Amino acid sequence: MRTRAGHLGLTLDQYEEARTLPCEICLAEATAQLPNVPYGDKDSRTFYGTVCSSCVSALGKFRHSPVLLRRAVDFLTRQR
Ligand SMILES: [Zn+2]
Repeated sequence: MRTRAGHLGLTLDQYEEARTLPCEICLAEATAQLPNVPYGDKDSRTFYGTVCSSCVSALGKFRHSPVLLRRAVDFLTRQR
């Protein structure tokens, strides 16, 4: 049986350690009640880093697309 850790190319110990790290986007600290989320590309089994549950949800709403996220940043920072 493949684990979530295996999907990201991590050992179980590496996966559990990643859950304790702060979110790399909003810097939210992990807690025992709400650990953070190891995030990456399951197809290539590449671990990108740790994010919180809110940020992983936001990435999902942008379809995990760097193109859409860059457009969102451009939208939010353009002159009005
Ligand atoms: Zn976050």
